[in-house]
Amino acid sequence: MRKDDCIFCKIANGEIPSKTLYQDENFRVILDLGPATRGHALILPKAHYANLYELPEDTAAAAMKLAKRMAGTMTEKLHADGLNLVQNNGETAGQTVMHFHLHLIPRYKDDGQHILWKPNTVSEEELEEIQKQITE
Ligand code: AMP
Ligand code: ZN
Repeated sequence: MRKDDCIFCKIANGEIPSKTLYQDENFRVILDLGPATRGHALILPKAHYANLYELPEDTAAAAMKLAKRMAGTMTEKLHADGLNLVQNNGETAGQTVMHFHLHLIPRYKDDGQHILWKPNTVSEEELEEIQKQITE
């Protein structure tokens, strides 16, 4: 369940030191070394899964439960004004480390970050076509 050449496998399993905020049998939460904001952290499963597509459902559920707990603690202790959960899958979506991770990004008023997208427009016909494509 570990991949030999994966840096996050090594960090998650304690072979490379990290600023750890929490760990248990299945996860390690570390501070990101290229933080978007003060306290930017990553939830890493200790087992190797490249992305959300590979992640077992129970691990996904446990990661979200942990994210909920960490978000509360971090927001309170860092006196943040909010927090973004970000999770990238695939190079096109911005993933640079191919070991599943969930970003916890505390947000502060006027922190200068833009973790947003530019909204496009969509027609009723397009919405229906997309709905059909996904659900049928
Ligand atoms: P992503 O672009 O979603 O794959 O995010 C990768 C994240 O990992 C980035 O925010 C990096 O700053 C962070 N990162 C890369 N290497 C390390 C490392 N050795 N320790 C902590 N964070 C790292
Ligand atoms: Zn890995």
